[in-house]
Amino acid sequence: MAGRPKSKNKLKTVETCRDATSLLLEFLSEELDPGTNSEFEKHLQICPDCVAFLNTYKKTMELTKSFLREN
Ligand SMILES: [Zn+2]
Repeated sequence: MAGRPKSKNKLKTVETCRDATSLLLEFLSEELDPGTNSEFEKHLQICPDCVAFLNTYKKTMELTKSFLREN
């Protein structure tokens, strides 16, 4: 547990669930830059809540898609 790194590079860090949630849509549409993407995945590894949220979100998207296809 060292102190927080203070480097200010331009990739977004994902430290909180709020950060993760705000990036969720971009993550799913694969619009994140690679650095931010791996930050996001790192958060998923330590946060079951966000994994669950992500899965729910994905399922909703799939349902929406198949619903649209049927019409
Ligand atoms: Zn989280």
